[in-house]
Amino acid sequence: MLAPRFLVDAMLGSLARWLRILGFDAAYDPTVDDAELVEQALAEDRILLTRDRRLVLRRRARRYLLIEDDGVESQLRQVLDALGIDIDPADVWGRCLRCNQPLETAEAAWARERVPPFVARTQRRFRRCPGCERIYWRATHVEAMADRLRSMGIRVRGRPDASG
Ligand SMILES: [Zn+2]
Repeated sequence: MLAPRFLVDAMLGSLARWLRILGFDAAYDPTVDDAELVEQALAEDRILLTRDRRLVLRRRARRYLLIEDDGVESQLRQVLDALGIDIDPADVWGRCLRCNQPLETAEAAWARERVPPFVARTQRRFRRCPGCERIYWRATHVEAMADRLRSMGIRVRGRPDASG
């Protein structure tokens, strides 16, 4: 299945960040107005995530999900449940949290000169964002994140060696 692409309204910045952490393409620009938001969702074939009922009723939004809850954990669960998505840990940390671009593999020697010394000593694999040059490393993020998601009641596809 092709991963869904999202467009997140200005009130849902935390949700956008979480979707990016999980590897989804989640466009988010709080300066865009309602009319532009609906147009962009149509033009880019994105699912509009919004808390604004009037926005989707008044305008002719085609694919959207009306987010019901205030808490980001419930919001995330609503999105994943509605679309029947299970999280694949391999996709986590695949996207820049700042600019939503897919990360690229970074050359280790190049990356080591640009990260804190402890990270340079302990990490072997690095990724960089082609947009902002920010460097990412997996470290223990992935399993910690998977545990956090499971505690939120979100189904995470488990690997037998990583469940203990
Ligand atoms: Zn970036």
